[in-house]
Amino acid sequence: AISGNLFDDDPAFQVTGETISVLPPLPLAGPYDYLVPEGLNVQPGDFVEIPLGRQTQRGVVWGKAKGDVDPAKLREIYGVLQVPPMAEVTRKFIDWVSAYTMSPQGAVLRMAMSVPDALEPPKPVFRFTLAQPNGESTDPGIRMTPPRKRVMAFLRDHPPMEQADIMRETGAGASVIKGLVEVGIVRRLMVAPPSPFNPPDLDIPRPHLSEAQEHAANELCRKVADDGFSVTLLDGVTGSGKTEVYFEAIRIALETGKQVVVLLPEIALSAQWLQRFRDRFGVEPALWHSEVGQARRRETWRAVADGSARLVVGARSGLFLPYANLGLIVVDEEHEHAFKQEDGVIYHARDMAVARGHIGAIPVILASATPSLETLANVEAGRYGTVELSERHGVAVLPSVEIVDIRQDRPERQRWITPTLKKRLAETFAAGEQAMLFLNRRGYAPLTLCRTCGHRFQCPNCTAWLVEHRAWGKLQCHHCGYTAKTPDTCPACGAEEKLSACGPGVERLYEEAVETFPQLRIEVATSDNIAGPKAAAALIDRVHNHEVDLLIGTQILAKGYHFPMLTLVGVVDADLGLAGGDLRAAERSYQLMTQVAGRAGRGDRPGTVLLQTADPSNRVIKAIAAGDRDAFNEVELSQRLTHGMPPHGRLAALIISGKKENEVDEAAWRIGRAAPRGDGIMVLGPAPAPLSLLRGRYRRRFLIRTDKQVRLQAMIHDWLAKVKTPSSVRVQIDIDPYSF
Ligand code: ADP
Ligand code: ZN
Repeated sequence: AISGNLFDDDPAFQVTGETISVLPPLPLAGPYDYLVPEGLNVQPGDFVEIPLGRQTQRGVVWGKAKGDVDPAKLREIYGVLQVPPMAEVTRKFIDWVSAYTMSPQGAVLRMAMSVPDALEPPKPVFRFTLAQPNGESTDPGIRMTPPRKRVMAFLRDHPPMEQADIMRETGAGASVIKGLVEVGIVRRLMVAPPSPFNPPDLDIPRPHLSEAQEHAANELCRKVADDGFSVTLLDGVTGSGKTEVYFEAIRIALETGKQVVVLLPEIALSAQWLQRFRDRFGVEPALWHSEVGQARRRETWRAVADGSARLVVGARSGLFLPYANLGLIVVDEEHEHAFKQEDGVIYHARDMAVARGHIGAIPVILASATPSLETLANVEAGRYGTVELSERHGVAVLPSVEIVDIRQDRPERQRWITPTLKKRLAETFAAGEQAMLFLNRRGYAPLTLCRTCGHRFQCPNCTAWLVEHRAWGKLQCHHCGYTAKTPDTCPACGAEEKLSACGPGVERLYEEAVETFPQLRIEVATSDNIAGPKAAAALIDRVHNHEVDLLIGTQILAKGYHFPMLTLVGVVDADLGLAGGDLRAAERSYQLMTQVAGRAGRGDRPGTVLLQTADPSNRVIKAIAAGDRDAFNEVELSQRLTHGMPPHGRLAALIISGKKENEVDEAAWRIGRAAPRGDGIMVLGPAPAPLSLLRGRYRRRFLIRTDKQVRLQAMIHDWLAKVKTPSSVRVQIDIDPYSF
């Protein structure tokens, strides 16, 4: 695949051809200038091999040379790889993301080339066919054995076939085929390997849509047919059929021959959704997420790049694939935090999807029952269109929500299910229906301490308590994964008394449920026990087949599952998460509880949601109970306005981190002294970051709030350029941080 360069290390043969810039997919790299040897034809977007330092590296031809290096010092590119060139839109998108997130272009390109060996030529495929159409041999000296005759007769009636197929169909061995090739009766042809992805079937009849759905679908289809940039919020209550509706838009995009990508927050948990997708389009989509194996990733990457993968379903990173011909982006559950990448290139996939749509001049659909305030503000400002579905599909109605005041309706000591919830659960099971208890806390108890001296178990690497997981006999940190065996005696005072668990986790709630309803089938769903797609799919099947009466779990249960017999949802601690210090806490809680509540009553039996709270007058609780999203958002938006927080202003965070606390403080102090001042600019900090010690690194944070018109990135760039920090201290920039 590579055309070699004989003269590379010999200055006497320096070729003064054209110069270009090439971007390697390295975290700190930008494009570097190279010479193109005469006779080699190179286009922008070509994947090439280049010398870089002492290594050979692969990169993408980015454009014209920058001219910042003495031409005499430039090295030549080695050659062009046999991969479809990266489209101009993709390159522009990478440049844009790099500028927006303030990450080097190479770091962003790395996300688009995350398959190290995808650039290797794929394994060749050989097919066999008759050398002469009639397959007769003119040479009487060739021995015609019965197996040879069978192979020849078979090939006479078939197109060129692979060896394994011929062997299976004729019963002949590999040596028979080889022999026929040697005597010249059969020819062996190298062919391009077929794409592993079949084109979608566009003739599968769609379900009959309700009038409201039909209207919404037409609106979306019109946007897709208009063929240009647009963003549309598909805003529909849980169970309203948003998926069915955007499937229609996908079909229209596919009809024009383009590729479509759907971004999902958590593909590993999306077995139900995937099944609907397969049923609707008759093919397996190309999946792109962290659990896809290397070989499949390689095939997928190529098929996306050559355009043969028409339907891509991906996690946030799926947005960065080098599409040959992308025509529509759908972001489902657009409000989900899972779309925010917090490491390396820090970005929010929903926002990047909008940028990708703009650069590629294609439509973007954002779907949610609880849209983010940022998206709603964009709708309000007229930048995004909106399509609404205000009712559940069919006979299903939205669940009724009731508040249970735990100060009056008290659970027993060391118990968390109130008498009211207990009674409703019993009624639900008696009616042959299913229930769900939601508690967003993994493990047995959030806090474990010694009853004698009060010693608490803290993570050695993080500012966080260790959480007891009784099922494993371990204490674990939920931030860095550190684990320790649960000790029998207190390490501080030596007391041999049992350690005391404070508060409930799902394991403990499970214990209580089993005690209360010993005859029921109860299961727990957390990221600890349904980590992989297989385990998740199996549990979903069990619930769907009604092999489970009561499901207890964390936010995993908020995903878009559809269980028709599930009629009661109990939110065990509705106050959890509301107390969080940041301004997004209310929004997050509102979304999470609404989504969990949205699991109830999706079939033909109505659902009920019970919110257990010690603060019934809290506006989030009241808004959920009243089903009044607009009221909630209005209050929330005005609060944000008061504080000048997004979506009203612009926000960025700087995280200063390092292994030595004094170095971090010193660096943070110096950065603070150089902080920009001016109209519409406010810098808060340095302050301890929300986790001031994380994975053994001390962290300080600045929040930078500016008015909309301030050029935030340029300002931060100039600011940081003024300060020198030691290499042991890392400065990360988070544009549009999630928590504030
Ligand atoms: P949402 O994404 O808005 O929560 P879904 O698209 O998952 O809603 O739809 C909820 C349920 O209703 C699903 O089981 C879906 O198959 C069913 N459904 C929605 N619309 C229709 C329709 N027009 N015909 C038949 N079933 C539908
Ligand atoms: Zn930790």
